[in-house]
Amino acid sequence: MKEQKGEGSKFAHITRAHPCFNEKMHDKVGRAHVPIAPKCNIYCNFCTRDINKDEARPGVAACVMDPDAAIEHVKDVTKEGPISVVGVAGPGDALANEETYEFFKKLGDTNPDLIKCMSTNGLLLPEKAEEIANLGVNTVTVTVNAIDPEIAKDIYSFIKYKGKVYKGKEAVEILIKNQLEGIEKLSNLGVIIKVNSVLIPGLNDEHIVEIAKEVKKRGASLMNVLPLIPLNKMKEYSKPTCAEIEKVRDEVEEIIPVFRACTQCRADAFGIPGKKNEDKHLGMTPASHY
Ligand code: SF4
Ligand code: SF4
Ligand code: SF4
Repeated sequence: MKEQKGEGSKFAHITRAHPCFNEKMHDKVGRAHVPIAPKCNIYCNFCTRDINKDEARPGVAACVMDPDAAIEHVKDVTKEGPISVVGVAGPGDALANEETYEFFKKLGDTNPDLIKCMSTNGLLLPEKAEEIANLGVNTVTVTVNAIDPEIAKDIYSFIKYKGKVYKGKEAVEILIKNQLEGIEKLSNLGVIIKVNSVLIPGLNDEHIVEIAKEVKKRGASLMNVLPLIPLNKMKEYSKPTCAEIEKVRDEVEEIIPVFRACTQCRADAFGIPGKKNEDKHLGMTPASHY
C-alpha cells in the first residue's frame, strides 16, 4: 500500500488503528464483526445468498444476533484481546437492516472509543449518509463491482428499492447512481471510505481501473480488489489467478491507494485478522460479504 497523499490527519488517526484500512495493522489490532444484518436488498450473482434459505436451518439462524446481544459480544471480545474496530458486515447489507442503526447508537454509549465501521452495497447510501455520519460511524466499505450498466447487468440479478423490484439495466442504473452519489455524500460528511471491487475474470477485469478513477473523484480513500469466489450463478466463472489480481491492483494503485492484505473474512469474525491463531468466528454463517 503506497502512502496516502494529501489526506487529512483524520485519515491517519483512524487508519492507525484499523486493520482493514492499514496493512501494517492487519496483524496487530483486531476487529469484531457483529452479525446483526441478515437481510439484503440486492442480488449479486456470485453471492452465497442461499444463506437466506440456510438461515432457517438449525445453527445458522443462531448466528444472527440482536443489537443487545451484539453489545454483550463486544464487551466479551474486547476483554479477550486488542479490538479497535467494531464492524457490521452482514451477513446481508448493513444499511438494509434497522438493527445496524440501533446497534451503533448503543455502541456509541457503551464503547465510544471503538472505531465504528460497516460494509454495504451502497444502494441506500444517499438516503442514509447523514444518519450514518450522525451515528459516529468512522469508516465505510462500499462494494462497487462495475460502474458501466452493460457490465453490471451481468453481475446483479435484481435490486429491491423503495418497495419495488427492479431487474436488468434499470436495476443496475439505480444501484450505480446510488453507490456513487452515496460515496460522494458520505465522504463530504467526513466518513472515510474504502471501495471493494470483486475481480471477475472476463467481465470486469479491465473495468476496475475505471471504477478506481470514478470513486477517487467521489472521495473514496482506498480500494481493495478481491478475487471472485465462484459460487451461485457465477460458479462456472474462473477464480482470478494471483498474477491477474496483482496486475489489476498495480493498475489501480496508479490512481488510488490499494489495500492488499485482505483475506475476505466472515461476517461473524473477531480477533486479529492477520494472525491465524488469534482470528476467530462464531462458527455459524459463511461470509456473504465481499
Ligand atoms: Fe447482498 Fe453482499 Fe450478497 Fe451482494 S454480496 S447479495 S450485497 S450480501
Ligand atoms: Fe469494517 Fe469491512 Fe473491515 Fe469489517 S471487514 S471491520 S466492515 S472494513
Ligand atoms: Fe477486513 Fe479483509 Fe482483513 Fe477481514 S481480511 S479484517 S475483511 S481487510
